[in-house]
Amino acid sequence: MFHQAKWDEPLLIERSAAGKKGHNPIRPSDIERKVVGHDPWNNVPRALLRNGLPPLPEVSEPEVVRHFTRLSQENFAVDLGIYPLGSCTMKYNPKVSEAIAQNPKLEKIHPEQDESTVQGILALLHRLDEFLAEITGMSRMSLQPVAGAAGEYLGALIMRAYHKSKGELEQRREMIIPDSAHGTNPASAAMAGFNVVVVPSNSEGTVDLEALRKVAGPKTAGLMITNPNTLGIFEKNVLQIAEAVHDAGGLLYYDGANFNAILGKVRPGDMGFDIVHLNLHKTFATPHGGGGPGAGPVGVRKDLEQFLPVPLVGFDGKKYFFDYEVPHSVGKVTAFHGNIGVLVRAYAYILSLGPDGLKAVAETAVLNTNYVLAKVLERTRFELPFSRRRKHEFVLSAKKINEQTGVRALDIGKRMLDWGLHSPTVYFPQIVEEAMMVEAPETESLRDLDELVEAFIRVGKEADSDPERLRSAPHNTSVGRIDEVKASHPKTLTLKWNNPSVRGKTL
Ligand SMILES: *Cc1c(COP(=O)(O)O)cnc(C)c1O
Repeated sequence: MFHQAKWDEPLLIERSAAGKKGHNPIRPSDIERKVVGHDPWNNVPRALLRNGLPPLPEVSEPEVVRHFTRLSQENFAVDLGIYPLGSCTMKYNPKVSEAIAQNPKLEKIHPEQDESTVQGILALLHRLDEFLAEITGMSRMSLQPVAGAAGEYLGALIMRAYHKSKGELEQRREMIIPDSAHGTNPASAAMAGFNVVVVPSNSEGTVDLEALRKVAGPKTAGLMITNPNTLGIFEKNVLQIAEAVHDAGGLLYYDGANFNAILGKVRPGDMGFDIVHLNLHKTFATPHGGGGPGAGPVGVRKDLEQFLPVPLVGFDGKKYFFDYEVPHSVGKVTAFHGNIGVLVRAYAYILSLGPDGLKAVAETAVLNTNYVLAKVLERTRFELPFSRRRKHEFVLSAKKINEQTGVRALDIGKRMLDWGLHSPTVYFPQIVEEAMMVEAPETESLRDLDELVEAFIRVGKEADSDPERLRSAPHNTSVGRIDEVKASHPKTLTLKWNNPSVRGKTL
């Protein structure tokens, strides 16, 4: 039985004791001090010195190392076990990408360095742009956006700039988004000033083409869609969808956050999409969770390149340079050049796999997911709404189990934590009742997949025999059941350590 570590771990600031140091820097000798005239370690001009030191914890090196190691043991991680969190692609990230990204020659580059001194990283970024453009079927990429949502926002800004250039921005205010979409899509569209028009799914779980044709028209700015959609179903009418939106004068945005299903197999550009983003932190080897860092590069078709953020990385045949000559650029969308470490990992990942390896990722991810799906359907009461065919993920409904036992999808997910698995995504997409969204990526072994299947079988049995055990789960984790609403409510969430009204209380 899996047991997560439990420590009553104080904050570092609570361990702090005046004068403790992390290491023993070699202090300058008296002789040096005499030669320089003052302590060379304290040569910050007086006028620039702060009033007093910032209130940082004063702790020894072992205290810091043990603190963070203990915290890591109270947590679940993709390096510990299967993490079938649908729509998030939590796959194992190869350590070779990590090692390359942490090479000091890359890590210590400063973004303000002269171009002549950073030709290597510029060459890497230029080639990564070409690789990702090839993978997505786009003409050119911006590597600046630092998350999927940031990529979507940039995509929506590019749509604005495009319609403005045609003198149609005032008229085209509507962004069409399917009801199965990821929540960031409507949020990004709204942030860029568009009104969101929701298009329903049909009985197959794909976009209702007739409904789409009704809403697409002179007010349409564009459509944002992910394919395979969040149910894991490939939109087989994607060419007709593209045609309907293009005929109405709109642009097509491809949310490529989860590219695992189609990597090297099909390209959004060939499906008729005009703008695409990828989540390098999901598909291309960067660990994610906890809010970053990520990268959501955006690719566009040829005639939209004029709107991309500046600078792009150019090459004049001899040297690489930052290219600010983008005539109708929407401007910068991030400080400097994006999350370079994430871009380096993706570059290493692509090179290490090569074209055949990338294809194998997609094939194995789809195979793994469908293996788990087939076994779960065969051996449990979980139901699969909509048609059968799935790509990299599937969404089960725990509705029947809920009706029979009172146990909810949330309880099931929590119980899985007790067995050393991460929970699937629950209650998303919202078109499925008691939804449990499962993704079994290509990095999982047959043994891991079988363990996941067993967990589904076991929760089903336990829902009958001991529903209370499920409703009060998790029991073997460092933190038990939390109040989900309270935990994410801005009024109760206190991130400051020294608020006297909060210390000592459980958040
Ligand atoms: C994860 C995800 C996003 C958002 O990506 P972030 O990097 O978290 O902003 C958008 N769309 C889909 C389908 C996703 O799975």
